[in-house]
Amino acid sequence: MIPQDFIQTLLDRVDIVDVVERYVPLKKAGTNYQARCPFHNEKSPSFTVSPTKQFYHCFGCGAHGTAITFLMQHTGMGFVEAVKELAGRTGMQVPDDGARNDPEDGRRERLYELMETAARYYKGELKTNDAAVAYLKNRGLAGETAARFGLGYAPDDWQGLARAVADYQDKGLEDAGLVIAGEGGKRYDRFRHRVMFPIRNERGKTIAFGGRVLDKGEPKYLNSPETALFHKGRELYGLHEARRAIQSVGRVIVVEGYMDVVMLAQHGVENAVATLGTAVTSDQVERLLRLADEVVFAFDGDAAGRKAAWRALENGLPQVVDGKRLGFLFLPEGEDPDSFVRAQGRAAFEALLDKATPLSQFLLDEMAAKTDLASPEGRVRLVKLTEPYLDQMRRAPLLARSLRRQLAGLSGMPSRASRFTPGPSSASVQKRGGQPSPYRVVLQALIQDPARIARLPPTLPADADPEAQALAGLMARLRRQVDMRNARHVVESYRDQPEQALMEEAEAAVLVWEDSEHDVEADFRGALATLEERAGRLAANDLSRKPLHELSPDERTFFLQSLKAKKLSALAASGESADRDDSD
Ligand SMILES: [Zn+2]
Repeated sequence: MIPQDFIQTLLDRVDIVDVVERYVPLKKAGTNYQARCPFHNEKSPSFTVSPTKQFYHCFGCGAHGTAITFLMQHTGMGFVEAVKELAGRTGMQVPDDGARNDPEDGRRERLYELMETAARYYKGELKTNDAAVAYLKNRGLAGETAARFGLGYAPDDWQGLARAVADYQDKGLEDAGLVIAGEGGKRYDRFRHRVMFPIRNERGKTIAFGGRVLDKGEPKYLNSPETALFHKGRELYGLHEARRAIQSVGRVIVVEGYMDVVMLAQHGVENAVATLGTAVTSDQVERLLRLADEVVFAFDGDAAGRKAAWRALENGLPQVVDGKRLGFLFLPEGEDPDSFVRAQGRAAFEALLDKATPLSQFLLDEMAAKTDLASPEGRVRLVKLTEPYLDQMRRAPLLARSLRRQLAGLSGMPSRASRFTPGPSSASVQKRGGQPSPYRVVLQALIQDPARIARLPPTLPADADPEAQALAGLMARLRRQVDMRNARHVVESYRDQPEQALMEEAEAAVLVWEDSEHDVEADFRGALATLEERAGRLAANDLSRKPLHELSPDERTFFLQSLKAKKLSALAASGESADRDDSD
């Protein structure tokens, strides 16, 4: 672990504007800088960099963080790598024990090296293997395309890799998923007699392989297992190669096969990626929606294709955001994107994309197909079946509302009012008619200036509310760690913790204040008074349960005073009963 105080010093020394500007052209706007967001496709700039607060925030897609996070998100660097990169620029030395204490980092580097060695080896083998070359030629693949995607060939040899690596017994080969250790210590290559598709992460480093048999062998496709570098549910084949095209077109196509991605690219459709032999995951949809406004899933037109599409819809629903589109394209029977684009060309394929079925229609079609709309029972069933799906569209309330209206029309009965419950973070912002809770106000003020901790009482009234909990946690943290001096110190210290999203959201609010007349100090004082008053009332309630003679003199004075105050305020408010219970 790199010590927290080193990271804070580092963040103090680098200027986030310099860091971001190397990758994204920034324009000054008031006290901040603005740009079109590098993390999602947009026409007008909603990506903001604050030099005073030293963080960036995108009001379009929610991307948010410090100079460290920016490097991680934008270049795909790991945390340690990003810290080293920034330290290098400022001439700071990352503490030595950082490297020693983080064997995990060194181990990953080793795995990357082995994958690179293997990729080079497979690539070289492709050049000398006539059968493999003939196979690819036969499928219409051009040499440049093969080179661009780094295709290779794993020879029909149990220990082919032994010729490429220094030590075939290296445990790393197993960890990388390249070699299988069988019974009796026999080791052999996982991939044999297969065309090899290197799977790269966003930085272009090879993290896994997909191998396709040349002839009739089984399985047709063999993928690397899950390793320290490779998580099937998160990665997408071809994303590194397609990234620029995706961002410039604003649309990404998700297909099922590696060969589809490669052949589409060869025909000029460069914005396609493939899942890795699994259903489309929610993680993947989220990632893609950050890059593009539209995600189109292209599936085969058969029953298996429709089933896969349905899984993609289910996993995509929680990620859909109003204003972004998910579409479903079913290819004609017997076709896949590869065969289609080879036979009909790019324009025809893109015409299909433009006619993709929108998510809303696909959802209603599938539901209607399961029910008999001619009978009242069937129509009730339609509503019952569909509602749970609409409830999942937490991030697209407008689309969900419009679907409810359509559903009402289809079923002939009014849809129940939205059961839409916003996620925990947005719920807390909009609590009580748009008024932020006093806990949130104090939390935000603390993030803006952690020195305010000195003005807070030792504890605040206990509350199960997540914001109250987060505030209590932050107070304890600030008292423990006195060197957190500004917003980015605070938020950075929450990296990978459950409260991270809440903290980032609070920090984003702070960013908005910068350019407005918002009086943070007045709000802070007001919220603090509210909380103190609430604490006093709770304490008085506690005391009221004890017999008067058991109270200490101080407690007795406090209790009697609070009783008097309560009576006076109740009288003033109603002019009737002084015994009104005013529990909150
Ligand atoms: Zn954005």
